[in-house]
Amino acid sequence: MTQAVALRSPTESVLARFLRYVAIDTQSAEDVDAVPSTPAQWDIARLLVGELRHLGAQDIRLSDTCVVYATIAANLDDPAAIPVIGLIAHMDTAPAVSGANVKAVVHADYQGGDIALPADPTQVITVAANPVLQDMLGDDIITADGTTLLGSDDKAGIATILTMVDTLRANPEILHGTIAIAFTPDEEPGSGIATFDVDGFGAAFAYTVDGDGLGIIYDETWHARTATVTFTGRNTHPGSAKGLLVNSVFAFADYVSRLPTDMLPETTEGREGFVHPGRGSIEVERSTLVVDLRDFEPTGLEAQERLLRDIAGQTQGQYPDVGIEIAVEDRYRNIKDVLKDQPHLIENAIEATRRAGLTPVVRPIRGGTDGAQLTFRGLPTPDLFTGGYNFHGKLEFNSRRGLEKTTEMLVHLVQIVAEVS
Ligand SMILES: [Zn+2]
Repeated sequence: MTQAVALRSPTESVLARFLRYVAIDTQSAEDVDAVPSTPAQWDIARLLVGELRHLGAQDIRLSDTCVVYATIAANLDDPAAIPVIGLIAHMDTAPAVSGANVKAVVHADYQGGDIALPADPTQVITVAANPVLQDMLGDDIITADGTTLLGSDDKAGIATILTMVDTLRANPEILHGTIAIAFTPDEEPGSGIATFDVDGFGAAFAYTVDGDGLGIIYDETWHARTATVTFTGRNTHPGSAKGLLVNSVFAFADYVSRLPTDMLPETTEGREGFVHPGRGSIEVERSTLVVDLRDFEPTGLEAQERLLRDIAGQTQGQYPDVGIEIAVEDRYRNIKDVLKDQPHLIENAIEATRRAGLTPVVRPIRGGTDGAQLTFRGLPTPDLFTGGYNFHGKLEFNSRRGLEKTTEMLVHLVQIVAEVS
């Protein structure tokens, strides 16, 4: 099936594009009501609008919440017969680590060994923690300088999608249907995708290009809920509190201590779900604990919720004067619920990965994606690799080959969609 076609080069290499985008600060922020959460995201959005225009894209729109939309016209005789494929990447970088003044370093012709980042020698990408480095000899590895994240998540997605567009323009004999493209803000805080215009986007299905290791295709996300456990006590002046004050902090602590230690993020892996008491606040009068519930099966999620309620009963027995309430919210659902009925989405991604000379690996992501939101709003959206590693930290890296192979996979993917339709 592999097609050995010598393609004409795009007008700009994917590496050059990538290095331009990572230099732009697009760090998003948690707990901001506005979308985008940071004004800096407008800078890259406007730049991308200009680049899309330059690449001949049509219907280019920048929404009032900073989503960039565009369409690449089909070059087939009967485009209506080919479903519109969507490709989506996000513009923001993680709030947790600085994305300002990113100075990318290209470690040319990597010859093995640990990679110390130049501006902070304590930041070392080790072979022990990153065995994939052993497969990257001779590649040009791209890192930050040790003081910031790199932002390959998800500027690699943007750079590879646009280089795909550039490649299609340079090679008009590659036949494809209509391609809808979107670049979104605030993927990391999770607020950007709510404003996504699924109908206006017009795709039959889509892929987020926001995954990690080369060849990995994510066809499952968690089923996710968030539980907020509220403990209500009674505050009085501590100097005259005897017999009156009811301190909710002790009930909070009792509750946390009863959570089973074998079902936490730090003690589970693979397909095992977890409960994660990750945030909260304590005051005498009122303490709250936020617990993330995650499982690949709905039954697993139900069991976790029952467990949290059982523990509330136990704590209540111990602290009868404290009020305890649990409120549970749905966050997102496993995309496999939808994708299992549309197997061609994953089959096409597997074939595109193979044609790019990579080994496809289909696996669940122990997390959520923007695609999880879109899938349940009627746009089935699995997640594709970008060649990046160590997201959201100073040890993040990608490589020239990672970016080039991801681009190649995307070029094959739009071709395959046209072939099989
Ligand atoms: Zn991402």
